[in-house]
Amino acid sequence: MYVARVNRRASARWRRGHPWIFRSDVIEPPAGPPGPVGVIGERGDFLGMGLWSPLSQISLRMLTAQETAIDFGFWVARVRAAADYREALGIEGTACRVIHGEADHLPSLIVDRYGETVVVQLLSAGLEACRSDVLAALIEVLAPAGVLARNDVGVRRAEGLGEDIELLYGTVPDIVEVEESGIRYQVAPRTGQKTGAFLDQRENRKRAGELSHGNALDCFSYHGSFALHLAKCAAAVVAVDSSGPALARAGDNAARNGFWHIQLVEANVFDFLRAQETARVRYDTIVVDPPAFAKRRDAVDQALRAYKEVNLRAMKLLSAGGILATFSCSHHVSAPLFREMLESAAADAQRPIRWLETRGQARDHPEIVQIPESAYLKGAILQAE
Ligand code: SAH
Repeated sequence: MYVARVNRRASARWRRGHPWIFRSDVIEPPAGPPGPVGVIGERGDFLGMGLWSPLSQISLRMLTAQETAIDFGFWVARVRAAADYREALGIEGTACRVIHGEADHLPSLIVDRYGETVVVQLLSAGLEACRSDVLAALIEVLAPAGVLARNDVGVRRAEGLGEDIELLYGTVPDIVEVEESGIRYQVAPRTGQKTGAFLDQRENRKRAGELSHGNALDCFSYHGSFALHLAKCAAAVVAVDSSGPALARAGDNAARNGFWHIQLVEANVFDFLRAQETARVRYDTIVVDPPAFAKRRDAVDQALRAYKEVNLRAMKLLSAGGILATFSCSHHVSAPLFREMLESAAADAQRPIRWLETRGQARDHPEIVQIPESAYLKGAILQAE
């Protein structure tokens, strides 16, 4: 077994429950290739087993405090624990995140399930070295018809890994139909964004559907995910996105659910909202679910300006009593910053805005208190007076 020696700061951080050990805290790197290694403290005390990524800023991702083999049996036990947690949630639907990386003690592993199809992302060199055992464990526990790797993500570059989309097992169709709280929609695992869908919004979509009424607007709609739920109770729904292929699926999804009152608009949301304001259109229900405007910490200020603009415009378009469900999936925009941004937007909109509910990511994307990075989705349901 190769061994890494780390400094006191690293051991303290890890003992507090955070699994990352940064490059600057590694005193002696392991002599071997990426993969599982033993980790010892400054004085040689055994700390646990971690995944070694030689090129990454995050050199080690801790797996366990036990001195144990990181083999098929290890991965089976971890995947089973993650799957059992989802089972107990009683998720309404056939799509869910089965493994949320660090928050499931499976650092750098993302696994989403769409019915019989499983889509994975292996996001570190250390984990990539365990690919065959991880895959075998997923097949053993989840018994899927196919497993697709959506490794076309930038973070892999920092790990010295390729960015490929690869069929790892069985068969995976280009389009999979899933169900979510009574709504059916199509997912494109190979070509869709992320692993094919945004599962972190499942519970928020259901809630927005319950509150929707009148004239509804879904901004940044992707394949119509919120729009479909809004359509259950709204008289008319407008779904806006800049992606033509996503909107084409939104059209199919609407027809599949028998909704003929969803209008699809391919446009830049910022331009669209401005035009609606000029035309004096009013909405009773609005959803604002933009992409992560702040991908990096140094982009936060610019991102906050964009979040504020879109929320300010949405607030102005609300009818009296109208509902705004608004979100940010930027990790670097903290909950207090998100609230401050909404306060500033409401002040500029010059109307009292009620904070009805604080929202977050769906429970199959667990947040671990000691791992702030596991929480990224902030949300609020607001109401105009
Ligand atoms: N609400 C969706 C997820 C939205 S992801 C769901 O619950 O599934 C963000 C979406 O915003 C993507 O579909 C992307 O195509 C779209 N997008 C990004 N920038 C945009 C812009 N300026 N105008 C319109 N759409 C945009």
